Order: sequence, then structure tokens, then C-alpha cells
Amino acid sequence: MSLSQTLFTPSFLSYTSNDLRIPYPRPVLSYPRIQTNRILCAAKRTGKRRYPSERKKLRTEKKEAAAKVKNKLEGVWRLSKLGVPVGDDPGKDSLGISQALLQAIAKVIEFPVASMLPEEAFSVVRKSFDARKILKEAKFVYTVDLDVKTLLELEPRAHDFIFRLEPKLGLVEHLPPEKTVSGDLISVVNECRRINGDAAAGEHEPKVINGNGGGGGGGGGGRSKPRIAVVGGGPSGLFAALVLAEFGADVTLIERGQAVEERGRDIGALVVRKILDMESNFCFGEGGAGTWSDGKLVTRIGKNSATVLAVLKTLVRFGAPDNILVNGKPHLGTDKLVPLLRNFRHYLQSAGVNIKFRTRVDDLLVEDSRVVGVRVSDSADHLQSSTSKDLKFDAVVLAVGHSARDTYEMLLSRNVELTPKDFAVGLRVEHPQELINSIQYSDLASEVRKGRGKVPVADYKVVQYVNDKDEELSQSSSKRSCYSFCMCPGGQVVLTSTNPNELCINGMSFSRRSSKWANAALVVTVSAKDFDLLNLTGPLAGIEFQREFERRAAIMGGGNFTVPVQRVTDFLESKLSETPLPSSSYRLGVKSANLHELFPAHITDSLRQSLSMFEKELPGFISEEALLHGVETRTSSPVRIPRSNETYESTSLEGLYPVGEGAGYAGGIVSAAVDGMFSGFAVAKSFDLFDGTVESVIGKAQGAGLVKY
Ligand SMILES: Cc1cc2nc3c(=O)[nH]c(=O)nc-3n(C[C@H](O)[C@H](O)[C@H](O)COP(=O)(O)OP(=O)(O)OC[C@H]3O[C@@H](n4cnc5c(N)ncnc54)[C@H](O)[C@@H]3O)c2cc1C
Repeated sequence: MSLSQTLFTPSFLSYTSNDLRIPYPRPVLSYPRIQTNRILCAAKRTGKRRYPSERKKLRTEKKEAAAKVKNKLEGVWRLSKLGVPVGDDPGKDSLGISQALLQAIAKVIEFPVASMLPEEAFSVVRKSFDARKILKEAKFVYTVDLDVKTLLELEPRAHDFIFRLEPKLGLVEHLPPEKTVSGDLISVVNECRRINGDAAAGEHEPKVINGNGGGGGGGGGGRSKPRIAVVGGGPSGLFAALVLAEFGADVTLIERGQAVEERGRDIGALVVRKILDMESNFCFGEGGAGTWSDGKLVTRIGKNSATVLAVLKTLVRFGAPDNILVNGKPHLGTDKLVPLLRNFRHYLQSAGVNIKFRTRVDDLLVEDSRVVGVRVSDSADHLQSSTSKDLKFDAVVLAVGHSARDTYEMLLSRNVELTPKDFAVGLRVEHPQELINSIQYSDLASEVRKGRGKVPVADYKVVQYVNDKDEELSQSSSKRSCYSFCMCPGGQVVLTSTNPNELCINGMSFSRRSSKWANAALVVTVSAKDFDLLNLTGPLAGIEFQREFERRAAIMGGGNFTVPVQRVTDFLESKLSETPLPSSSYRLGVKSANLHELFPAHITDSLRQSLSMFEKELPGFISEEALLHGVETRTSSPVRIPRSNETYESTSLEGLYPVGEGAGYAGGIVSAAVDGMFSGFAVAKSFDLFDGTVESVIGKAQGAGLVKY
């Protein structure tokens, strides 16, 4: 047992044999024991059912929106919620203006002949697919921008119709010319620098540079450049490095894992030969945890916000297809992420960023209560002795993700303030994709055609609150949130362990989402109260909680990364699944196990309750063909590193800038990238590379912390 394990694992949780010693009662009550509150279906009052106060508020908002329109015949009108029945639409891959869409537009602006509207005057801002059962017919739902100038040039008879157009909340909105903002992040930063009178502002020519970094630097007009270390090459680290390099800082990006090319080979060795490289795997390496993923780019921090658009446009610049700017549920798939990250790296290098792969930060160098550098070693050298060296920096951006458990321990030893954070644990459920297609789409399921058809491969997202069955816990709080998470349609279950004695899983998919399986995490929230029950306390209690169940899962699977599985129906009835089991996408082997004994009874019970609620929303979800895989523990960071809201600097150590998911300020690729971007601006500001306000350039930071994709 390592020193860290000795310090943070209570003795009763350490294993001396392959037997599980479970210090809490096992769930014995049989399914179902439902007592749930639905949170998804809080009906929205409309029309006459609105309260008088709601009607008054609506009237005021309408008046305000009308008053804001200075000139209806200028700028852009944004038309939202335009429905086109699936039969009339060219399908999910078409982002153009079809005749059916022109008809929907004509209806809203009350123009009598749709075919006379010129396509050139319209652009699709968002397109999503809505197949909810409450609809008479499944449809594509569009948001479209109408460019008034182009429309009137090409069809002057539209003049009166535009003149009569009134804003309608959530449906018709007038955007004055100045509100249509933002390019990608590189042009945003360069625009800032030009406004600041920086003569060196300009974009870099990406060029391929082998080895560690380029030279030159990103401008800065001859002033001495602050030396900034960005630790971690996930989305938050990459975006922080990009902003800082564009502002002219001397940036070194330090990543313990490998560049995507070598990382791909390490992941191949893991999947095919069961060899886990503890420093280069599904969690560690270029692009961070999200590289071998589904690449979902959905986020709860406002998909149309300027900040999110700046991130998405930057991804497009580096090779993502531009449909991610329009698609209601954008996703890339790992095959698109890998080349994108290579382009991102080449751009950073051409901007002067020194990239050090296979280099792990083992310690912070602190002088007079301020970080002055980092101690690094070659991450292939497990003893850290021969390769350890000190590197001096003016500031350290810490973007290490939520699996850098050794880094959290190092921070604790350096007295950096860490606070435990709620997260979620559970199991990953896998169904045949065709089953999910038919649950969601009924007859339309035949249109999916393994991702090549007219409608998207079906997904789902379910959220419930369930009653806590543990008496000790329910005295203070009786509800626990249960939800599906990181659903990967047409995907596969993958191993995200970073240590061979621990087993945890997640999901990924390719851009086409064409596998025959659909998987999603099925998780329940856990908090300090749950950690207490296992006698786990202190800032890293959540990490020990994760470790505990990852070890149990490894033991249940019998080792060698074999994943313990159980049919959903057997999990509900507390019985071991008989073979043959339903097929699983997990490549390293599965073994039938009593997953209902893995977690404490109250967590198992919450999972059971939520399954029965999911069945109500998705009839057929509880199926003999549905297979649960253990264990899903790394849903988000179990720790937060407190920092200043303004400067992004740690509140306990000067010169340290904790960012992204590992610091507890993001949950997902896009929110991590957004957090990295904001921290880049904040650090640039602290070193006088930028003197505006971040908000004036990229808008407000939203939803830091518990956001999930
Ligand atoms: C299999 C999988 C699938 C996922 N699918 C999606 C999805 O579809 N959509 C989505 O939005 N999110 C997804 N996520 C979550 C998403 O990947 C993360 O939320 C996101 O990557 C967090 O970004 P980050 O930059 O904060 O941290 P990370 O991406 O975790 O990056 C941290 C980086 O820091 C490096 N590092 C750690 N410690 C050190 C050290 N001491 N020294 C040097 N380097 C260090 C690591 O190697 C890593 O590369 C998925 C995650 C996984 C594991």
C-alpha cells in the first residue's frame, strides 16, 4: 500500500484477500420500491393558465423587446422554433434552407408565397430533432437568422412584411448589427490587442514542428514576457495556453501523457493487450480525458453564448466540422478529435508554446508564499529520481483534470486549500442501440440506419429525484438526484482506470455513432454524508470514496481489467445473471457479478428507484438485453480548489491558477475549455498583457462549478 493510501484509507477498507468485506448492510428488499418526484415534467403554464403575475411580467417583457428595436429594416431577425416535419426535411446532415423551411419562415413573417423568399437571405443558426411522444409528428426544429438587407435587395416586396414584424418572446427577436459577435478565440484576442494598440498583434501560421515547442513567441512588442506554466493538456489547459500565447506570454504546456499519435498506440495496447500505461491512457495525454470520448459538445452553460461560440469556432478553425456551430446536440467523435488536437498543437507551437509531453509535475516550487515554479520528472520514470528537475515560472495554471489524484495529494501537502465537492457514482448501462431507437422513435427507428439515415442515432437523458432510503441520511435530506450521464449512442464502454488495481469505466463513440450499442452512466449524487458513513473525512474524502468502489469493482471483475456486469433485471431482483450474458461493447472482457452488492444499500436502492422511473419515461429501458457495467465513479471532480472569482488565482497560494474540471469549475469538454479561456484572460490581465475587462470581450463566465455536459 502506498503512503497516500495509508494516509487516506481507513484500515477496514484495505484488502488483504480477494474477498469483499462490506461494512454496511446489503440491499435485501426486492424491487420495486418507488417513491419519486419527477423534476423534468414540471408543466409550463401557457395562455389562459398563466397566473396574473406571469401575464403581467410577459406584457412588460414584450414591451421592452419592442422598445429595443430601433430599426426593423436593419440588422438581423432571429426566428426560433421553426418546425419542419421529418418527412419534408432533407434530414439531419443538411444545414441548408429547404423549401419546407422557407414555408415555416413565410408563415412567421406572414409572407404569402414561400417559394419567392430568397434562400440567400437566411442562415440556419441551430437545428435539432424533436421526436417527443407528445408531438403529433416528429420534426426538425430550426433557429434561422433573416438578414434584412439581403432579403430586401433580393425580394423588395418583403419590405412591408418586415416592417410589420414584431418581436415575440422566444420566437422572433431583432438583433441589432452590433449584437452579431465573435469569431474564434484567436481573432477575438487579436482584436483585443489591436484595440490596445499592440502593433505585434496578428495570427500565427501553423506549421509542423517536431519535438518540444517552437520559438519566436506570440508578439508582445519587445516587453519582457511573463513565463507561464500550464499544467495539463486537456481542454482547459489547451484553451488557457492558447489565450496566453496569443497575448504574448512565454507559455510552457506540461503534460504527463503522450501526444495523440503515441497516446493512440498506448490505448491500443490497453484495449488489445491489456497493458495499462499509468501515464498515457483514456484519462491522461494530449487533449485530456475527452480525447477518446464521444466528443459531445453540449453544455449547460448556454449554447448560444458568445463564450461557447468562441470555443466552438476555435474547434472549427482547428478542423472540427462547422455543423457543430448549428447542430442542437453537437458531437465530434474520437476520429474527429484526434486530428483536431494535432492541429491545435501545431498552432500552439507556431505561437511559441513550448510543449513538454511525458512530463509530470510532481511538486510546486514555493518561495515567500508564492509559486515560483514546478518540479517535474519524466512520467515514464516511476521513481522520479533520475529525471527530476526544477523549472522556474512567474505563474502556474493548474489544469490537471479530476483523475490527477497524486497532484491533489501534493497540493494538500503544500497546504493549498482544497474542499470536498459533491459528485455522482453509479454504473454504466448498455442496451442494443436498435432498442433505444425504437423506444425513442417508434416507426421512425428504421430511418436511423446506423448513423447514415435521416434522423440522428437516438439518445436519451433522464433525471429524477428519489427518496433516500438510508435512515441516517434521510433525517437531514431525503432526496437524492439520479440521472443518466454521458450517454454515448452508437458507442462503446471503455476503461478509464489510471491504476491497475482500480477499475472504472466511461463511454466513447466515433463520429458516425454506428456501433450496435448505446451506453450511458446511471448515477446518483454523493456528498460528505456518504463519505462519513465509510469514515472518510478530510478534503480528499471523495477521492477515497471513488477509490474504494473502483477497487471493489476490480475485485468483483476478477482482475485483468475484466468488468463486472449484471443484467438490469437481475440487479433489480438481487440475483447473479446467468450466462450467456447479453453482448457488451467492452473489449477487455466482462464477468457476471453481484453489482447490487457493490455500493452501500442506500445507493443501490436509489439506482433501483431511478431505473424504475426511467422505465416510465422510456418504456422498454428495463430489459433482459440491458447490461449494467461497474463502476462509474469519475463523473466530475470530487474536490474544489477555491480561487478568486475575479483573478482566478488560488485563495491560498499566490501565483497558482486552478482551472477546469480538476479544480471543480467545469464538467465536460466545452465548459472546461470555457474555464480555461477565462483563466487565460485573467492571467493575462494580472501580467498586464491585457487591460480590458474579460466580460467586455467574451461575455460573462457562467455556471462555474457543477456544470455537466
Ligand atoms: C471516456 C470519457 C468520455 C468523455 N466524454 C465526454 C463527452 O462526450 N463530452 C464532454 O463534454 N465531456 C466528456 N468527458 C469529460 C471531459 O473529457 C472532461 O470534462 C474534460 O476533458 C475536462 O477537461 P480538463 O482540461 O479540465 O481536464 P482533463 O481533460 O482531465 O485534462 C487534464 C490533463 O492534465 C494532465 N495532468 C494531470 N496531472 C498532471 C501532472 N501532475 N502533470 C502534468 N500533466 C498532468 C492529464 O494527463 C490530462 O491530460 C469524457 C471523459 C472521459 C474520460
